[in-house]
Amino acid sequence: MTHPAQPKASHFINGEYVEDTAGTPIPVIYAATGEQIATVHAATPAIVEQALSTAKAAQTAWARMTGTERGRILRRAADIMRERNHDLSVLETYDTGKPLQETLVADATSGADALEYFGGLAASLTGEHIPLGEDWVYTKREALGLCVGIGAWNYPTQIACWKGAPALACGNAMVFKPSETTPLCALKVAEILIEAGAPAGVFNVVQGMGEVGGALVTDPRVDKVSLTGSVPTGKKVYAAAAEGMKHVTMELGGKSPLIIFDDADIDNAVGGAINGNFYSSGQVCSNGTRVFVQKGIKEKFLARLAERTGNAILGDPMDEATSFGPMVTENQMNIVLGYIEKGKEEGARLICGGKRADMDGYFIEPTVFADVTDDMTIAREEIFGPVMSVLDFDTEEEVVARANDTEFGLSAGVFTKDFTRAHRVIGNLEAGSCFINSYNDAPVEAPFGGVKASGVGRENSKEAIKHFSQVKSVYVRMGDVEAAF
Ligand code: NDP
Repeated sequence: MTHPAQPKASHFINGEYVEDTAGTPIPVIYAATGEQIATVHAATPAIVEQALSTAKAAQTAWARMTGTERGRILRRAADIMRERNHDLSVLETYDTGKPLQETLVADATSGADALEYFGGLAASLTGEHIPLGEDWVYTKREALGLCVGIGAWNYPTQIACWKGAPALACGNAMVFKPSETTPLCALKVAEILIEAGAPAGVFNVVQGMGEVGGALVTDPRVDKVSLTGSVPTGKKVYAAAAEGMKHVTMELGGKSPLIIFDDADIDNAVGGAINGNFYSSGQVCSNGTRVFVQKGIKEKFLARLAERTGNAILGDPMDEATSFGPMVTENQMNIVLGYIEKGKEEGARLICGGKRADMDGYFIEPTVFADVTDDMTIAREEIFGPVMSVLDFDTEEEVVARANDTEFGLSAGVFTKDFTRAHRVIGNLEAGSCFINSYNDAPVEAPFGGVKASGVGRENSKEAIKHFSQVKSVYVRMGDVEAAF
């Protein structure tokens, strides 16, 4: 019998599901059991061509609609997503393995937030009037044209919406390629947009590996590429986009610092560290995986952290009591287990976890290492799994310098009751998305994105509009034209 997660077809182009079984089969594996639940096919060159030409053709009419009309469609799509939240969350859980306890509140819901927010902004994308004596300049905020979105596997619904919603609000069309690991959810986003009244072709989904992504990025008809992925992929995609002088948004990886001063409320700080390391089993780009704890509270912090981490409930992700799911794939599990072994070898002190959980699926126990030093591999490289490194520090000056000593710059957090210090420290940290006495909140109203190797551009908020539109300026002369000859 066909599994309920099996989509009608692999791709969604020009308002309908499209199949081409000549493409390489991509098995969809449910991470909680290792069972194959669906198959899609990578896009063939013919499918890529169909998606790009369709999107290109649909974009002009879409951009000519009023912002109010476009916004209404996006807001209707948001309503549909919320009505179907339960089913979409179950699908997200099948796609990623993340527990339903999370997907019910963090995936389709945050996708709907983006559709609603950018739907609301769509009508307000105006230019300015610049008086110049008798003459004047006016500016127009125009769509970029055809945008490509490429997603990572940790938030397939959210990433499709975080890219699709601002792109469409500005009058662009999009071809979106999900990660081959999680191909299911973006198809539902495309389906819902059509149901909400989006013209066929303005949001299309094609499946495939990096080579399909590469074909999309290098196509001369494409005006912008928005990627969520790792730094090495980001460098390749950025370079390919530069070749064609295309706009880019790069949402890449991190190794973010979370700094806990000795005046912090311990339970809040522990809560922040848990949210910043173990949500989605640690598969979150902005995670605060270098937890710097001031020496005076170190042992108290570790004791409370170990106690609360012991309360994680590993199990069937479809059971709403489960609070901690598996790694997305067997491969990702093995990568993370490799880092755990490195941590042990390099002399970090294991506080809890540290191994594969004794159950079906790709579960790793939430793992905490203490006495981690700056040079250890687990403190330098992005692990993308449930592995927290706790490092000690003495002074503010020291911790800021150590926190910044990384190529990444996505996020940073600080826990302290001293607000002057909190703002000073955040001001000195090289990171794009920061938190004071909190960690990993990502409301659509706030800009999200990194500095240094963690990325270029911003998603969400009014900032995202700037990255999906461009300004045309028009000089208007009222008098005669003076010329030298
Ligand atoms: P990857 O960088 O491996 O892949 C990202 C996407 O790019 C996938 O869809 C991938 O396809 C595609 N891709 C790979 N090579 C190319 C290429 N040459 N040209 C075009 N597209 C290509 O990342 P993961 O999927 O493994 O995701 C984990 C990473 O994503 C982590 O580093 C994480 O930090 C980062 N991330 C960043 C976020 C942010 O907002 N800053 C949020 C979430 C994750 P395929 O996988 O199918 O081969």
